[in-house]
Amino acid sequence: MTNTHQLVNRKNVPEELTWDLTAIYPNDIAFQTDIDLVRDLVQAFDTAYHGHLDKLVSIHDAFSALEDIYTRLSHIEHYAFLQQAVDITDATANQLMREFEALSAEISTKLVFFDIELLELPVERLDEIVVANPKLKAYIRQLKKQKEYQLSPEVEQVLATFQPNFSAPESVYGQTRAADMDFDDFEVNGVTYPMSFVLYENTYQYNSDPAVRHAAFKSFSTTLAHYKHTIAANYYNQVSMEKRIATLRGYDSVFDYLLAEQEVDRTLFNRQIDTIMTKLAPVMQKYAAHIKKVRGLDKMTFADLQIDLDPEFAPKVSIEDAKKYVNDAVAPLGSDYQAMVARSFPERWIDFPQNIGKETGGFETTPYGKHPYILMSWTDELADVYTLIHELGHAGQAILTQYNQSILGSEPSTYLVEAPSTFNELLLTTSIENQSTEPRLQRFAYSKMLTNTYFHNFVTHLLEAAYQREVYQLIDAGQGFDGDQLSEIKRNVLERFWGPDVEINDGAELTWMRQSHYYMGLYSYTYSAGLAISTQAHLNLLKNPEVATESWLAFLKLGGELPPIEAAKVAGVDITTDEPLNQTIQFLDKTVDKIIALSQTI
Ligand SMILES: [Zn+2]
Repeated sequence: MTNTHQLVNRKNVPEELTWDLTAIYPNDIAFQTDIDLVRDLVQAFDTAYHGHLDKLVSIHDAFSALEDIYTRLSHIEHYAFLQQAVDITDATANQLMREFEALSAEISTKLVFFDIELLELPVERLDEIVVANPKLKAYIRQLKKQKEYQLSPEVEQVLATFQPNFSAPESVYGQTRAADMDFDDFEVNGVTYPMSFVLYENTYQYNSDPAVRHAAFKSFSTTLAHYKHTIAANYYNQVSMEKRIATLRGYDSVFDYLLAEQEVDRTLFNRQIDTIMTKLAPVMQKYAAHIKKVRGLDKMTFADLQIDLDPEFAPKVSIEDAKKYVNDAVAPLGSDYQAMVARSFPERWIDFPQNIGKETGGFETTPYGKHPYILMSWTDELADVYTLIHELGHAGQAILTQYNQSILGSEPSTYLVEAPSTFNELLLTTSIENQSTEPRLQRFAYSKMLTNTYFHNFVTHLLEAAYQREVYQLIDAGQGFDGDQLSEIKRNVLERFWGPDVEINDGAELTWMRQSHYYMGLYSYTYSAGLAISTQAHLNLLKNPEVATESWLAFLKLGGELPPIEAAKVAGVDITTDEPLNQTIQFLDKTVDKIIALSQTI
């Protein structure tokens, strides 16, 4: 007997539940025409501006031309990549993606002169550019910061040429995980279960049967261990390369180099990790102990941490119901925001079906100047509404930002990226809480908020960050590491956070092999940073709705216009102090207490 998950082919899913790509291009011919046009535009750009960025007027014309090129490139990329995301087995989509990648590699080499020449200009000239075109504020601010660490034009050109090779460790890791890792089936009580990386991450770790959960964890970890040394060597390549570039550019520490891109300093980074490791840990330990009690487990192990508090209670939610949930939840942000988000259904921004070859999880992305696109897999559960409203939070920010910012400055710092999405999740929980007096539903909503919103962002990713910090400290001190040392660091972080009542089973120390985040610099900690901002803004909203709503909408329009500290201030949150983090932890502590109290009445 085999337990499998039956999925349909992409061609058999109902079209009305898929996203509408004709909003980008009506057909493949229009896509091809734009590819040809971009090649011509880049050629014309090179002829007109290479070596001619001396006058302000030519700089302005160059910026307009560049914005046009990048806007079209964004459409080309999305049209290809979104088709591949819903079906990796689609040969046409893969072909479109290859065409985009070839175009992108070709033009990035040709456009690299632009920044290099701008960086040669005096600061006053860069300031004049912003005065004439305020939408370029973010772009020029970041350029000015780079200026300090800029190398000679020849060296910059060489580094730009090698750029694709610098991302090799990430793709080696991705290929090992997706194509080479061969997981063994496992058996529990005469039933054979298939195993893969995605099956473990998406289903088995949540399985309500402890025997299945533990056998799955064992099978998963056994295969991971076979790749430990290769992945450690690959990872060492990544971090030592980052250190070399940092040194080459004149940074004393790799931390400063990696944080410069986010426009924050080490104080903010360290505070996030230290405060959560010490103050949130007891709250999460209390919650883990409560799950253990409610679920009647003999012991709580690392492999049990992801389970639901109340798996039997799963109210079914249809896509039709989701419209109402979303509409009610975002009401505090006003009718304009509500109407903007409501467009997602008739305009088909969202891809709901589950089919063979579709990416798992969820994401939102917006081709510049077009409507947003959201990928998810609808399973009729309340958790899906959380995913949806999270992604709609990103979508709302993308629309408001793109309306107000140039394509060259619309991306907010990663420090802020998860704030709009998690803010909407909090709105959803409050809305459910207000509409129901049923204790089991309330407890369900609180525990969903803890597991969906906070566990992932505040715990899983933060523990990655705590581990990463120790690895980069080794690198900064000129030391190397092997797979065993990485496992030891990871195990130590897990033991410190979860305390003596959660057994860190064998295999848990290999968690450092499970995330591609480690190839994205100091990215992991930003999840909790964004969430501390959204939690404090949410608490402000409960206290003072009118002012807080206005501040939040103003924050959403910023994109990259302001660096994180100033941007958070617009949202009414002061991230130069530990107040937002402390308030968030207090809020979580109260939530856990509410869950425990509700359990006594159920
Ligand atoms: Zn997100």
